[in-house]
Amino acid sequence: TPAVRVVGAGLAGCEAALLLAGAGVPVLLYEQKPLRFSPAHKKEGFAELVCSNSLKADRLDSASGLLKAEMRLLGSRLLDAAQTARVAAGGALAVDRDLFSETVTGMVENHPNITVRREEVASLDFEDALPVIVATGPLTEGALAEAIREKTGRDSLSFFDAAAPIVTAASIDRSKVFAASRYGRGSDDYLNCPFDKAGYEAFYAELVNAERAELHDADRVNVYEGCMPVEIMARRGADTLRYGPLRPVGLVDPATGHRPWANVQLRSEDRENSRYNLVGFQTNLKFGEQKRVFSMIPGLEQAEFVRYGVMHRNSFLNAPQVLGPDLSLKGQPGLYFAGQITGVEGYMESAACGLLAAHQVLRRLRGLPPLALPPETMCGALMAHVTAETADYQPMGSNMGLLPPLPERVKDKRLRYQKLAERALAAMEQALRSQGALPAR
Ligand code: FAD
Repeated sequence: TPAVRVVGAGLAGCEAALLLAGAGVPVLLYEQKPLRFSPAHKKEGFAELVCSNSLKADRLDSASGLLKAEMRLLGSRLLDAAQTARVAAGGALAVDRDLFSETVTGMVENHPNITVRREEVASLDFEDALPVIVATGPLTEGALAEAIREKTGRDSLSFFDAAAPIVTAASIDRSKVFAASRYGRGSDDYLNCPFDKAGYEAFYAELVNAERAELHDADRVNVYEGCMPVEIMARRGADTLRYGPLRPVGLVDPATGHRPWANVQLRSEDRENSRYNLVGFQTNLKFGEQKRVFSMIPGLEQAEFVRYGVMHRNSFLNAPQVLGPDLSLKGQPGLYFAGQITGVEGYMESAACGLLAAHQVLRRLRGLPPLALPPETMCGALMAHVTAETADYQPMGSNMGLLPPLPERVKDKRLRYQKLAERALAAMEQALRSQGALPAR
């Protein structure tokens, strides 16, 4: 007899199911493929990577590497699968996506505590009161999306179709940018990245030739009329951007005393000015291409991308409003959400969120209080983001800017990140041990 339902065998759902099953809890796992595919999913297997095959950096002194190290402590099985399917990619953990999916599918299907049901879940009102983890991802649609809206309120399952990339403030080279608003209006709200003529021309040439990600939703064309991707606008002519989002009018670069040839504006994403978006840079370029081409923008040479621009549907709950700190729906404690649908951003972040939801369900079944993770940990910081009150909730990937600063100043970035990561891991181990949450394999 099952004890927990997990809906969706993506990254979050598989991590959750495997952790629970490994702890001896019988799981009923629902997956709609191959009966129904989202516009981005193409294969029958579980934990399908729909775009890039990179799970990002694996070095401890990086946000993604730290997240993985924490996930190992939390009992990740997907990282075992990733190791099996690993392909050479420098310091990154990239995988053969088919082998990765095959490996995860095998782990799930062969697990004696997991029963797989290949069916589309259309309602969240089950005949019994077993805990449920909904992990149906950013492309959740149809009847289930309606059922979620019914439970969480009309406006809570929002989505965006076009978004510009976001970089961390700390990674912007301040010696190259200047703070100013156009025509000196208002305070110096924007950071400006000034191009000279040669720099702009080099950037332009790469932008118009950069590789775009495949479009998945045919219905989106109408939606995008008003917000054209920057690389498409650029194709209209070399100067189009200089009269559009990259216009330099009303700005004087204090380093030269002149108006720049072209100018990229960065707008703060939060009150603390810890993250900036690239104004007008909605894009459908592949993530690697965004990093390569946008790093040619003066000041962004070493930029750390918190979120890449996307041109796909990305439904996510207004989590701070509707979810409690244990990822369960406020007012319905047995109904949990995990993965990208909660507003974490990225493959590994989604998987990590699945792990955390599974830990919370496990504790509920065992009559233990919810697991509380310190803000010094990447997982704790991501969960704080997911549940912190905010007027304009936006998805977020792991980044070092989420962690509280070190007590001492460490100038060297690598060393600072290493210290932040070491502090995080020590805090995570301590938290898991003191709350009796070290995972049983
Ligand atoms: P998913 O992996 O999408 O898993 C959801 C699962 O639930 C699917 O298997 C689906 O078939 C199933 N399901 C859905 N509805 C139902 C239902 N009603 N009943 C039963 N089963 C259901 N992140 C990156 O880090 N790098 C990238 O390159 C990247 N590219 C992306 C490209 C696109 C087009 C999209 C949409 C997202 C991308 N992301 C990327 C973001 C994110 O990391 C992925 O979406 C990730 O797969 C999210 O994991 P998840 O477990 O939350 O959802």
